[in-house]
Amino acid sequence: MLNAKCRMLISICIVHLALCISGCTGSAPSGKPVAQNVVLITIDTLRADHVGAYGWTRARTPTLDALAREGVVFDRAYAAAPITLPSHASILTGRYPPGHGSRDNGIRVSATVPTLATELRARGFSTAAFVAAFPLDHQFGLDRGFDVYGDRLGHEPDGRPANERPASQVIDDAIAWLRLHAARLPPDRPAPPARPFFLWVHLFEPHAPYGRPDTGRPVIDRYDDEIATADRELGRLVKALGPAANDTLIVAAGDHGEAFGEHGEFAHSIFVYDTTLRVPLIFYFPAALSGRGGTRRGVRVADPVSLVDVAPTVMHAVGAEMKDADGIDLAPALGGSPLPNRELYAESFAPVIEFGWAPLRALRAGPWKYIAAPRPELYNVDEDADERTDRAAGQTAIAQGLDQRVGRYAGPALPKSLAPAADPQAAERLRALGYSASAPGDSGGPRPDPKDRRELAARIAQVTSGELAGAALISALEGILRDDPRNGQAHLRLGYARLQAGDCARAEPELERAIASGLPSADAYLGLATCRGRRHDLAGAERALAEAGRLEPANAVVTANLGILRAAKGDLPGAIEALKSALAADPDLHEARFNLAIAYAKSGRKADAAAAARDLLSRLPASAPQRAEVERLLASLR
Ligand SMILES: [Zn+2]
Repeated sequence: MLNAKCRMLISICIVHLALCISGCTGSAPSGKPVAQNVVLITIDTLRADHVGAYGWTRARTPTLDALAREGVVFDRAYAAAPITLPSHASILTGRYPPGHGSRDNGIRVSATVPTLATELRARGFSTAAFVAAFPLDHQFGLDRGFDVYGDRLGHEPDGRPANERPASQVIDDAIAWLRLHAARLPPDRPAPPARPFFLWVHLFEPHAPYGRPDTGRPVIDRYDDEIATADRELGRLVKALGPAANDTLIVAAGDHGEAFGEHGEFAHSIFVYDTTLRVPLIFYFPAALSGRGGTRRGVRVADPVSLVDVAPTVMHAVGAEMKDADGIDLAPALGGSPLPNRELYAESFAPVIEFGWAPLRALRAGPWKYIAAPRPELYNVDEDADERTDRAAGQTAIAQGLDQRVGRYAGPALPKSLAPAADPQAAERLRALGYSASAPGDSGGPRPDPKDRRELAARIAQVTSGELAGAALISALEGILRDDPRNGQAHLRLGYARLQAGDCARAEPELERAIASGLPSADAYLGLATCRGRRHDLAGAERALAEAGRLEPANAVVTANLGILRAAKGDLPGAIEALKSALAADPDLHEARFNLAIAYAKSGRKADAAAAARDLLSRLPASAPQRAEVERLLASLR
């Protein structure tokens, strides 16, 4: 199981496991390039069946529909994992998660596996990525090979670092980069030796929370609104390609789907039903390129494909190959020919990493889809696309055969080498998006089957989706803890929800229980320190911070709190030292900078205090509510 030690020793804990079983592309000869440039668009949490081109009559997706009309549409495309980072890593590497190492959000992609970016840059491409959410932050390893990796998410109105950003910003950045790229070409020459480019753009809108839950609009309508926003912004990008569009292959895909109660599931990341695995996948070659390399327009492909096929197909389209990929080059399908019969793998290790439940592994072969779990499932997905009738009991030979085959992709055990992000703040920001990046303690014994926890998982998804707040959130967490009293994450969340409601008396016992459950995280101690500080138990607060610092010595939030505590005790030199150290680790800790300015002021160091306050003003957004207080401090120093 994951533990604090492994998290800190991440650099030696992660071992790359190359896996190449079924569809290795080996040394396929490089063909003639079909496209010069490549634009890859991934829309987070986008179900295929909510796109107009896939039959959703209420869809407002004119951009995707136009690409689909003139491009090649894969009707049965599946993610390799129902969660953002592992799925994107599979898109960019052409490998299933065991081959790129990222088995859950917060678990870094192997530093040595080739990606579309590393391979295309090596071939002389300009490469840029603009992403919209923290699970794809550069620290998780997808930035390799990109000349530019745009992952700055800005700040919330209150100055806290944001965990996601709107599509409009992502597209603005991408268009600015395209203009810069075009400007580097000689303007007046008829056929400039343009450097080809690879641009990846990630939009996050359809991910929960969907729009504003407080409007009372039905959740599906709000989900469709978010998809419409992403599609509209995508339209701006396509338009901005300008003349380069004639040489550009556009690939659009979802990274995973979303559940709205199917199989008792909400959101995504736990189960591997097609609710969360099926995604739209569209390859669009402009008219000028049609026919080159046998590509056709207006083709619909019924053969099942996986997002691991994207990288080999893109590489082939630019006249190269993706080495050691699990996926295959889909070129035959782009020309309207059938694809070879093969197996497709998918997995979800979030259950074991986040809840200590059994992982799920799925194998699709012919009409069958097998799900390896403590109680395995088997569906005839040709006849039963919604996976309603489990045939495992009646088709034991088929189930057993597929069980043996799925083991060739990954076993049920979590590789010991895995570790979540080393940065505790990263874990906190993943939690804010509904993911937890630290595992509960391993109790030994057999792991529960996630489907036996589906009702609990649904309530947890409700909590983490951001659809609940205030009293409703507290009541949902209390319900979860009645059924799962040792769920450390739920104790921690309930502790924080009560702390935010000003109820420290009932927050503290929850935080103590989170600690007792063995969460390898400083957050519970930080919450305790806050509560003890509020009731002026400074010694108790200090003890909690010392424990937090012992668990996570590099946690800037812990150091900053230590500084604030020292200031409260009158130790100004000690406070200044700790606050400066916290700001060196994280310059965006605005509260630490404000307290530093005050500590300087109290020490009689007016010039230092004014400099810190001015520095803070330059960092706060124009709308930040804290500005007035900082201005007041500055005025008092004059
Ligand atoms: Zn995602």
